[in-house]
Amino acid sequence: MKEILQDRNAEELAALMAELGEPRYRAGQLARAIARGGRISEFTELSRALRERLLARFEDEPVRIAEVLTAADGTEKYLFSLADGDLIEGVLMRYKYGNTQCVSTQVGCRMNCAFCASGLNGLVRDLSAGEILAQVLAVNARAGGTPAKRAVTNLVLMGSGEPLDNYENVVKFLRLVTAEGGLNISPRNISLSTCGIVPKMIALAEEGLPVNLTVSLHAVTDEERARTMPVAKAYSIAEILKACSYYFEKTGRRYIFEYALIEGENADREHAEKLAALLKGRPCHVNLIRLNEVKERALTGTDEKAAYRFLGELEKRGISATLRRRTGAEIGGACGQLRAARLGKSGADAE
Ligand code: SAH
Repeated sequence: MKEILQDRNAEELAALMAELGEPRYRAGQLARAIARGGRISEFTELSRALRERLLARFEDEPVRIAEVLTAADGTEKYLFSLADGDLIEGVLMRYKYGNTQCVSTQVGCRMNCAFCASGLNGLVRDLSAGEILAQVLAVNARAGGTPAKRAVTNLVLMGSGEPLDNYENVVKFLRLVTAEGGLNISPRNISLSTCGIVPKMIALAEEGLPVNLTVSLHAVTDEERARTMPVAKAYSIAEILKACSYYFEKTGRRYIFEYALIEGENADREHAEKLAALLKGRPCHVNLIRLNEVKERALTGTDEKAAYRFLGELEKRGISATLRRRTGAEIGGACGQLRAARLGKSGADAE
């Protein structure tokens, strides 16, 4: 694979132009062209000679939209192909207040959660900062956005991969996508979701990047959590809650817990009671998720009535909670489903 131009921040673009003997202002031109989201071969503000020199060294289009599925509610699901042929996925969800893009941070995932399609074949590789950024640039451009008037207003790092298992690249991506000369998306409009890698949650609190921290909890005791999330053997719920408090202390940002309701596993009244007791008085919010069933994973989500009952139990105990609107379930909205289908390992479940 060639180098990835989108990996570079303003300073690194300036160094590149100096290296190629180009005037300094070209770095700014290049940054603006990158933020537009096209291929290097289409950067027509640069001379053909410079484009050719860049193309000799950098990938023309490191992340290409290979397939788009559109759901009735307007949700779009993308299959992206990377320069080495690896596949990742993304989603664009349309809301009244703007459009939220879900991005991937790794090809595959090593966490192997029992309900998730992303970990079915383990981790293939980390994405570079530029490969994460290029997903946003490609979707923003496709949706008619420009750097000045973005079509993608919000980001969630909830595609395939565990963002904190690819820490350096993810933090660099966050700096690139929030940079003034780039897409300039506010950290407040970005949510990073983790399965709870405690030391990295603490490190993130110290980066000066006040993104919304979301933790996939999905259970109320360490024993139960370990049944569906192997990472629970490494970090306890108590340690996770402590890291969340530290995050709040450092960033002032309220944190969020994801809780996918799984039949016979974590969705009874006693689970709601325990969850409320764990979170009582904390500056947090609970997102209840209806499970997107994955063929290879023998777990069933609760029905809608049980989900609302669980929500009611939390609310009754003063916990801020919502039941997440399901978007795009019929196009295989859940992590890893489209890629798994492409690899012939799964059918994206139609509902
Ligand atoms: N690795 C990170 C981010 C990716 S997953 C994390 O664990 O948070 C984004 C969210 O989708 C997580 O809360 C994850 O647990 C959840 N998820 C995964 N598979 C799902 C499925 N089949 N149905 C519903 N939610 C799922």
